[in-house]
Amino acid sequence: MKSEIIDRLHKENDLSDGELMALIENGEYDHELFQRADEVRREHYGTDVYLRGLIEFSNYCKNNCYYCGIRAENHRLERYRFGRDEILSCCRQGYELGFRTFVLQSGEDNYFSENVITEIVTAIKKEFTDCAVTLSIGEKSFDTYQTWFDAGADRYLLRHETANEDHYRKLHPENMSLENRKNCLWNLKKIGYQVGSGFLVGSPYQTTDNLIEDVRFLQELQPDMIGIGPFISHQNTPFKDFYNGDFSACLRLIAILRLMFPFALIPATTALGTINSEGRELGLQAGANIVMPNLSPVKYRKQYQLYDNKICTGEEAAECRMCLEKKVLSAGYAIVTTIGHVKR
Ligand code: SAH
Repeated sequence: MKSEIIDRLHKENDLSDGELMALIENGEYDHELFQRADEVRREHYGTDVYLRGLIEFSNYCKNNCYYCGIRAENHRLERYRFGRDEILSCCRQGYELGFRTFVLQSGEDNYFSENVITEIVTAIKKEFTDCAVTLSIGEKSFDTYQTWFDAGADRYLLRHETANEDHYRKLHPENMSLENRKNCLWNLKKIGYQVGSGFLVGSPYQTTDNLIEDVRFLQELQPDMIGIGPFISHQNTPFKDFYNGDFSACLRLIAILRLMFPFALIPATTALGTINSEGRELGLQAGANIVMPNLSPVKYRKQYQLYDNKICTGEEAAECRMCLEKKVLSAGYAIVTTIGHVKR
């Protein structure tokens, strides 16, 4: 069966709000939607899956996002941060395993000032001249982003989380603002970073209209990377009693995003693998083309607990890498060890 709606999304990279709603809310088109998304990813990226080595270097955070397990007010969490040498040693291990992108992610930890991060970025870029550095450390000023870019940072990940003002207010305390988060994204683009944004699927109080707004915001922003994943509740947060996001809805959104943004780098996220044991494989088959194994030392992994039951917290980097390699192959794709820039 050939659906006109999928054809049009494919050809025009766009649909009306009503059509998007129909695609997101009902499973009727799934088979064709995923197949078409896969066709488009193969057209641009073949069977290549890019690797990103994730280094979760601090779980200190000054913020209090209601959904997040490492929020400041979670006093039951044992906090940790790596020093510069520990971060570099993660990179060395990753480099041996074929990683050519290092993603430095943390809570908003003021210990890692502009200078400290500048030194770390400079050291990584000096030692690994053929690698990209991605930062994912939250909302900073234009000048700070500029300084890190000048030090050699290539990419920045900052999910907008939700593009709707009212919904944003239900997920974050008063002292945070959607306006600032969006501004940060525009600043990052202006400076010249390859920018990644994205949103939570199935977060508390979310409506389909909110998801459509998320997609519309991404159309405006035109990011290079788009990371989405299901909301998963965490026992020590105000959202502990909410249901997790819907797995099928996540797959549909990955496929829709692939058709809207044919060249985007879209990860099959750890959260997707957490709510479904084949989540990452199915994510790849619905249009994703990135995997992000963890390079942090095992002893810290459980403490970077954004949500309950997070997977891959017990394996060494090499094990994680090999396990994912198998999963990717079983899904019909292959990990490549190139730097993996966006193609467009
Ligand atoms: N401090 C950085 C990194 C945040 S953690 C920043 O502000 O960008 C990375 C991502 O984890 C967040 O952007 C959020 O989308 C996701 N996340 C946080 N809590 C989550 C939860 N309970 N379920 C699923 N994803 C979550």
